[in-house]
Amino acid sequence: MNNQNKTYVVTGAGGFIGGALVDALRTRGSERIRAVDIKPFQEWYQLCDDVENLCLDLNLKENCEIASRDAKEIYNLAANMGGMGFIENNKALCMLSVLINTHMLQAAQKCGVEKYFYSSSACVYNADKQRSFEAPSLKEGDAYPALAEDGYGWEKLFSERMCRHFREDFGLYTRVARFHNVYGPNGTWYGGREKAPAAICRKVIEAKLSSRHEIEIWGTGNQTRSFMYIDDCIKGIDLIMNSEVVEPINLGSSEAVTVNQLVDIAEEIAGVRLIRKYDLSAPNGVNGRNSDNTLIKKWLNWEPHTPLRVGLEKTYRWIYDQYLARERGRARVVRASAAAQ
Ligand code: NAD
Repeated sequence: MNNQNKTYVVTGAGGFIGGALVDALRTRGSERIRAVDIKPFQEWYQLCDDVENLCLDLNLKENCEIASRDAKEIYNLAANMGGMGFIENNKALCMLSVLINTHMLQAAQKCGVEKYFYSSSACVYNADKQRSFEAPSLKEGDAYPALAEDGYGWEKLFSERMCRHFREDFGLYTRVARFHNVYGPNGTWYGGREKAPAAICRKVIEAKLSSRHEIEIWGTGNQTRSFMYIDDCIKGIDLIMNSEVVEPINLGSSEAVTVNQLVDIAEEIAGVRLIRKYDLSAPNGVNGRNSDNTLIKKWLNWEPHTPLRVGLEKTYRWIYDQYLARERGRARVVRASAAAQ
């Protein structure tokens, strides 16, 4: 380790989880923070003036070296990702994220970083173990024999192993968490990359405000999932980064719900009941996926615990405000162009 290194680096900082992590590091009083993302600054969900913000393409090795200069700890959250609609249709793009983690690991080793965190995913798990709606919760060992989500999941599994081999062969301190569906304010809620909780909140808001009391659901609605609130994710990253857990570990809620139950909760928050239309041809992923939290409870004496009802209400309120702001913006544009004619 290089004792001169003082900077906490977060990649993917313009995104949902990276933005929340930068905010948490500031709150914890971390001395120097560097936030890095490929997106232009105006598209970042959270942009803090008191940290060093860099707009860099981390597919490129030289940019990873710039991002890692003087790094004490690196949190690599940068990846091309989205909900099922995105990852099923962008497999090559998802797999190209392998460049980011590979180059970040090399740069981390070169600069003598103290600790390196990698954000993996529940998409690494073997598809055969997720075929039924009542599939047992996924234990860490269920990633093998490997049959990961095509594209995105294989990249995550490969990058996990890359972290392991940098640790074993080069002595780099690496920690890996397998996130299960994370949701909360300041994340993607429209545009095609949004995940189920944000998409359902948005659809319920649209239906409520338009008085067209219908909602389209991808799949049968019987798929089971668990959803982790962003605050739990940030706390879990800190605990895992500073733990003795060297193998990839689940970081997810174990409160399983069906997609229909998720819609029930969003409807209850909104105070509406909607007619459900099921699109069976839409991408909807595996039938059953939940996080087995035996290991995280054993090692860290903790697990994500925010009830879905509580987290979804905060998410719904945030998306509602964003939705209204967007509609007001659109109305202003229409008025301005009408006035110009
Ligand atoms: P996000 O899309 O909001 O953030 C990812 C960020 O990475 C984006 O801002 C994107 O611009 C950036 N990025 C992509 N390519 C880049 C590049 N070449 N150089 C620099 N930046 C680049 O996603 P998120 O939900 O915040 O996810 C963060 C991490 O957690 C990702 O690695 C993702 O795979 C993982 N993960 C997330 C979830 C979830 O439910 N959100 C679940 C499992 C794993």
